[in-house]
Amino acid sequence: MNRPFIIPIFLPHVGCPHQCAFCNQTSITGVKHDIFTPEKLRFHINEFLKYKNRQRQSVQVAFYGGNFLGLNKDYIKLLLDESTKFVKNGSIDSIRFSTRPDTIDHERLDILEDYPVSTIEIGVQSMDDRVLLMAKRGHTALDTENAVAQLKKRNYEIGLQMMVGLPGDDETKSLATAHRIADLSPDFVRVYPTVVLANSRLALWYQKGKYTPWPLERCVTFVTKLYLFFRNKKIPVIRMGLQASENFEKGAAIVAGPYHPAFGHLVYSEIFLDMATAIMETEKVSHKTITIKVNPRSISKMRGLKNKNVETLKRKFHIKSLEIIPDPSLAEDRLAVSS
Ligand code: SF4
Repeated sequence: MNRPFIIPIFLPHVGCPHQCAFCNQTSITGVKHDIFTPEKLRFHINEFLKYKNRQRQSVQVAFYGGNFLGLNKDYIKLLLDESTKFVKNGSIDSIRFSTRPDTIDHERLDILEDYPVSTIEIGVQSMDDRVLLMAKRGHTALDTENAVAQLKKRNYEIGLQMMVGLPGDDETKSLATAHRIADLSPDFVRVYPTVVLANSRLALWYQKGKYTPWPLERCVTFVTKLYLFFRNKKIPVIRMGLQASENFEKGAAIVAGPYHPAFGHLVYSEIFLDMATAIMETEKVSHKTITIKVNPRSISKMRGLKNKNVETLKRKFHIKSLEIIPDPSLAEDRLAVSS
């Protein structure tokens, strides 16, 4: 899957019918409630275009952070009209946005027909109606199924976003969600661990002891399982974990929960650790010096954060020296162990 160059336009909470329990988009994006005028949108897009890498395949303007199709119809058209001018002059290729499943209907989709929208992401979060209810999402799993069916009829590229660790959620329910998402054959998915954001309803529940977030380790282990599940189904997972933002780094916006600025990297590292462990167990490695070859792009994943994987393998297999060396002939998700 070729990753496009994304020009993100954050519309925090705009178009939301209410507040989901886990959400505080201002905390996530660091952007205060803001209205994009045509001038402001033009300026923003032009600023981002300055950073475009020539080698990128395509450029997309992306409306995130709110519920795009829940916006006032005139405002939807205004944003699309302005973005479309950039498509017409050849500086961007298409438009994408994220939206709630229950705002996808024929009337709204008809509006999009006149515009170069290629990709629509749906905030699924869970396919368990009880979990959705507890998260105060205000829609059901059936809404997601209906929304995807409508988007498929109109040939959109579809991305589905799911969360793990919501109130009432557990590994069994989340895995069931992943199965139902895979059955819908999206073009890609994103997986977000539930973190407790400041000023969210979840923060209140956390403070009152009514909600306990998953520990980071549990979350990484489970998201690793989800990643492998989707990989088996040939569905790309384009993001795991919230985007690191300055706000998060300052620690201001997160009250608790499994946030890590390199969450996806932790998942990949766990996969490489598991692969190396499995090979070394099978081959009954007993040498004092071991070499692991990986694709150059996978060196840091094999090493793990702060060399954690290297230390773990050395300890587990009583190895004195473990060397990780690049081998471009290996695929990015493969490794070779020798002694
Ligand atoms: S999760 Fe999405 S729909 Fe819910 S309040 Fe946040 S932005 Fe709005």
